[in-house]
Amino acid sequence: AELRELLLSKIADVPDYPQAGVVFKDITPLLADPDAFGKLTDALAGVCQEFGATKIVALEARGFILAAPVAVKAGVGFVPVRKAGKLPGATLGQSYALEYGHATIEIHADALAPGDRVLVIDDVLATGGTAEASLTLIRRSGAEVAGVAVLLELGFLDGREKLAAGLDGAPLEAL
Ligand code: IMP
Repeated sequence: AELRELLLSKIADVPDYPQAGVVFKDITPLLADPDAFGKLTDALAGVCQEFGATKIVALEARGFILAAPVAVKAGVGFVPVRKAGKLPGATLGQSYALEYGHATIEIHADALAPGDRVLVIDDVLATGGTAEASLTLIRRSGAEVAGVAVLLELGFLDGREKLAAGLDGAPLEAL
């Protein structure tokens, strides 16, 4: 509960960003505070161990910032999932629906293998579309989903419900 209060106190509300009517959750004050950032990444490393993960998949771009120190602290490999066209090697891609149009994310085709247990890390779970697409990529890679961990869940967008099928019983932790 103490950690939760600390983290919430370091997340700013930015009204009407990126468009009118949306309140954007800005994590940059948290990143600027080494005490809060350290406690967040310690907690995420604990989740990684608790879930028995052997790899971390991080979602571009803010997911990278959180997941890199967590991977080092937990002693597991870091695997980036990027927007289409950014990874140099052979990739697997997954498209998903946005409010208007669609987006595609990619992973290196050889980054994961059967036997890997993968924790997905991102900053914010909103509608759940991005995280759901990443779970599909993990399964298509032949690996197992250990769970999903995020800093913040926007509960009113029902991302947790959207992710349920993709999680298939694996845990979702929102700090
Ligand atoms: P979703 O696919 O709708 O769950 O959107 C999640 C993605 O959008 C994540 O990668 C987040 O980084 C980003 N995102 C959505 N809303 C916010 C927000 O309020 N603050 C920061 N990132 C957000």
